[in-house]
Amino acid sequence: MKIAFASSEVVPFAKTGGLADVAGALPKEIAKLGNEVKVFMPKYYQINEYEYGHQYDSLIGELKVSINGYEHSVHVFYGKLPNSNVDTYFIHYPNFFHRNKIYTEDWDEDERFILFSKAVIQVMQKLGWSPDIVHVNDWQTALIPVLLRETFAWDSLFNKTKTVLTIHNIGYQGRFSIESYKRAELPVELYEHFGPLTHEGDSNFLKSGILYSDVINTVSDTYAKELLTREYGSGMDGYLWGRHTDFYGIVNGVDYNVWNPETDKYIPYHYTIDDLTGKLKNKKFLLDKLGMPFSSDIPLIGIVSRLVKQKGFDIISEILHKILDLNLQLVILGSGEDDYENMFQDAANKYPNKMGVYFGYNEELAHLIEAGSDIFLMPSHYEPCGLNQIYSLKYGTVPVVRKTGGLADTVQDWNEYNAYGHDTGNGFSFYEYSGKALLQSIERALNDFNNKPVWRKIQNNGMSKDYSWHHSAEEYIALYKKAFSK
Ligand code: ADP
Repeated sequence: MKIAFASSEVVPFAKTGGLADVAGALPKEIAKLGNEVKVFMPKYYQINEYEYGHQYDSLIGELKVSINGYEHSVHVFYGKLPNSNVDTYFIHYPNFFHRNKIYTEDWDEDERFILFSKAVIQVMQKLGWSPDIVHVNDWQTALIPVLLRETFAWDSLFNKTKTVLTIHNIGYQGRFSIESYKRAELPVELYEHFGPLTHEGDSNFLKSGILYSDVINTVSDTYAKELLTREYGSGMDGYLWGRHTDFYGIVNGVDYNVWNPETDKYIPYHYTIDDLTGKLKNKKFLLDKLGMPFSSDIPLIGIVSRLVKQKGFDIISEILHKILDLNLQLVILGSGEDDYENMFQDAANKYPNKMGVYFGYNEELAHLIEAGSDIFLMPSHYEPCGLNQIYSLKYGTVPVVRKTGGLADTVQDWNEYNAYGHDTGNGFSFYEYSGKALLQSIERALNDFNNKPVWRKIQNNGMSKDYSWHHSAEEYIALYKKAFSK
């Protein structure tokens, strides 16, 4: 099959969250399974073409991309996804993409991604490349299926093309004033007088994608079920219900070339499931780095996360001091809302030996925390898939999570599974979204941390799990076939 994969972020070029990890890994796996894949992303100014050896694509040359009747002159850079043969096209339009952030609150945020979406289609036209599947991701590219059917339907290049939309996080929908659809030059009947593309009187790019894509999926089975409910659907549940026979869940894989304690290039001591001595050395290294005392007997809890409410920081804040009264240490790497940064900074000032913080984005420290911690905390309010708990399993870092979305699908509670006579649990989880339930799970984990054979069993159960992309990629191929047969 020929697959176009469009994403607003792709590892290693630009990343704010899990979408980038997916976009950097899945296309490579799909290509390995014998398919032709082309990846498309914006050329943000943070991407240095010299560093990656990208070339200006003179064969494509200039594209004239029209927004609101005005033609923008767009160019394209070309390169490969690292360690692969996957063609990657970078849409170059400095006026839109040379900003200090990938996503902005600027007045033209809608236009930035309308331009990107149209440019993706126009590059394929210039290449004369007819994809079987156009796979779009989240609101930033969700207009592509609409544009293909409404604006570019005249082009026989796309006669057989089917579209797949993956929802990585329902919390971000690309909601703008209704004018955005006008700027995208979509037919007025689609949006005027509460036409089908509007949502509560606004434009909503994700809704458009839900209505127009041939097949839709999200990044875990549990999250797919949750999205059909009012509580989790963020207003999209009704539209997804309307498409529920075309709506699937596929859990993300992880890139074990990057996240593997046996080979991880960021950690000083490698280790394996059979010999965890390196893990303990990493713990010491990490604590030294953060200026905290080390003891092999004191459990170290790690957090690597965006500091936003979604990730459960409101329930952590309810019990932070109770957590820090326990016999443990806590390290946090994150960036996000000031209130949470202040809360953790205050706690770190008060308990310097027990709590370490680093605010900002730091890839190396993220790996060190995965490798050096005993427990990984992820009490998300909702979690489409979640990657860090899957990394944690591989690193023998026992996850304590809330039972939601991908966390529910990947972490099996040790006590619960034991109660049913299975010793296959690989972490600790709780359902009720409250500080009290979180604290109880942490206490259960601490209790078993002191029982070395049990703890080792829980670690082994996690470390032996395989969440490599190969398996998920096969599920995506099956999904593409479903779309293609429609
Ligand atoms: P989300 O996409 O909702 O942020 P995921 O768990 O799916 O959550 O993916 C988060 C990814 O971003 C992981 O690879 C994680 O290691 C990384 N990450 C999050 N915050 C930071 C940070 N401050 N520094 C380094 N990596 C981070």
